[in-house]
Amino acid sequence: MTWETVIGLETHVELATRTKIFCACTTAFGGEPNTHCCPVCMGMPGTLPVVNRKVVEYACRAGLALNCTITRRNRFDRKNYFYPDLPKAYQISQLYLPIARDGHVEIETEGGKDTIRIHELHMEEDAGKLVHDPWTDQTRCDYNRCGVPLIEIVTEPDFRTAEQVIAYLEQLKSTLEYLGVSDCKMQEGSLRCDVNLSVRPAGSRELGTRTEMKNLNSFKAITRAIQYEARRQIELLEEGKRVVQETRRWDDNKDATFSMRSKEDAQDYRYFPEPDLPPLELSEAYLEELRAKQPEMAGARKERYQREYGLPEYDAGLITGQKALVDFFEAAVDLGAPAREVSNWMLGEMMRRLKEEGLEPRQMKLTADNLASLIQMVEEGVINRNTAAKVFRAVFPDNADVRDYVHKHGLEQVQDMSLVKRTVEEVLAEHPDAVADFRQGSQKILGFLIGQTMARLKGKADPRAVSQEVRQQLEG
Ligand code: ADP
Ligand code: MG
Ligand code: ZN
Repeated sequence: MTWETVIGLETHVELATRTKIFCACTTAFGGEPNTHCCPVCMGMPGTLPVVNRKVVEYACRAGLALNCTITRRNRFDRKNYFYPDLPKAYQISQLYLPIARDGHVEIETEGGKDTIRIHELHMEEDAGKLVHDPWTDQTRCDYNRCGVPLIEIVTEPDFRTAEQVIAYLEQLKSTLEYLGVSDCKMQEGSLRCDVNLSVRPAGSRELGTRTEMKNLNSFKAITRAIQYEARRQIELLEEGKRVVQETRRWDDNKDATFSMRSKEDAQDYRYFPEPDLPPLELSEAYLEELRAKQPEMAGARKERYQREYGLPEYDAGLITGQKALVDFFEAAVDLGAPAREVSNWMLGEMMRRLKEEGLEPRQMKLTADNLASLIQMVEEGVINRNTAAKVFRAVFPDNADVRDYVHKHGLEQVQDMSLVKRTVEEVLAEHPDAVADFRQGSQKILGFLIGQTMARLKGKADPRAVSQEVRQQLEG
């Protein structure tokens, strides 16, 4: 039998507000444990939450960008459960009236284009962190993350492959980065994913029993977890067994999922409307104002780059896929560097260096004005392209000034034509066989003679001038 995998995602995204969702504590990542806290986010009795206006704005803007309908009158609910990372013993979330619903995202994979429906987007607060110390075998509580604002984005079960899931997450990441509502750093946990997965006979319309894998925080882990879990469920069904609805934990080291808790121990959260917060009433005028402020997103920007700058589709897609690349590209173009040149450097040497150093574009030190200077130096004929590539590689890690670097290392192109002429004369005199070959009609030998001359000039001559000189002397 052939099986079909069905996947739905719940994605938690930390919002990039300066302060927490219900108090004025900082949201800064890390910090000494329990130094970013106050009585409100520590859940002391008698304290009252106040909604951070920025959180509502960011959630609305994310909802609008994901083509959702905004719930003009929405509300917070209390989700009650005890866990040591949650000092209040309840989480303020939204169950009945989430701020946004019924959206969709278009994705593209090798399998074609698909639409992923968004079921809802809601606001909630994050919990603290438990830090286990294996030496003392103690667990300690760090409440710095308590009350950091989150949005949770829930899709319909519309994915069939891991590639679609990754394409969706990349799109989601790019959208949220464009909006500036989250930094989406998976390694710091500001974007984390729960994967719900079931399998069913191909062609069946009924959903199978699903399992949920919680808090996956890298694309690699997500892909491997999906592949493993689909295989596990198919094997069970083929052996005539059944899939148990449960939460499973993906273990990256063991490359397998393990049961955490089954539906039978599922908690009843006793949700009820949060009594300490009034419902939110969002006016049409407010939403209109937000709509007008939405930035140009990746898709529209990609088309514009093709139209306005004549970039090939592939290049435009790569640059607009990441906000950090867009910012870099636009800064260099604003400084007067030709767009095609900038994009060629970015897609070539820059991508190569990022990969070598294992860096994300936003971690890069190289600045747009430094690349613009490098491009200008090539245009002015101060250095040739080969030298420019070497300079790029050298200044990349620390953003050393390219002009200083070229000067300090004496890399300026040889401008002295009499030196070029003399060098060609020497090379021809030393290679009479090659010269004879040329006279016999071998054009190939030209490249060799040009190469010899360039080498003798330490690669610093203008290749066009050298080539011309070699021809002239051979033919003269
Ligand atoms: P819960 O509230 O228990 O987490 P939901 O019904 O809200 O459950 O679904 C959570 C996620 O699981 C959604 O993304 C949904 O699309 C997905 N999902 C629900 N049923 C299935 C299924 N049978 N197979 C795969 N995904 C599913
Ligand atoms: Mg769930
Ligand atoms: Zn606080």
